[in-house]
Amino acid sequence: MATKKKSAKLLRCPTCGALVQQKDEDFPFCSDRCRKIDLGKWAMGVYKISSPVLDPEVLEDLGGLAGGHSKGSRDE
Ligand SMILES: [Zn+2]
Repeated sequence: MATKKKSAKLLRCPTCGALVQQKDEDFPFCSDRCRKIDLGKWAMGVYKISSPVLDPEVLEDLGGLAGGHSKGSRDE
């Protein structure tokens, strides 16, 4: 690995794949637009994780309560 010339480091924009220089002000994104798109993806991911509706344990618990309650209420 010969690193004689100190060229600017190039990375690919995570959003669109365009080459971006490390000195770019929007690095590692090629533009402010791509940065915002990537942030939007993260926000959507957080939304999914914080949603309790898809938790199988919660659904099971709700089903068990409903079944047990209807049985017990006929005890009179
Ligand atoms: Zn981009």
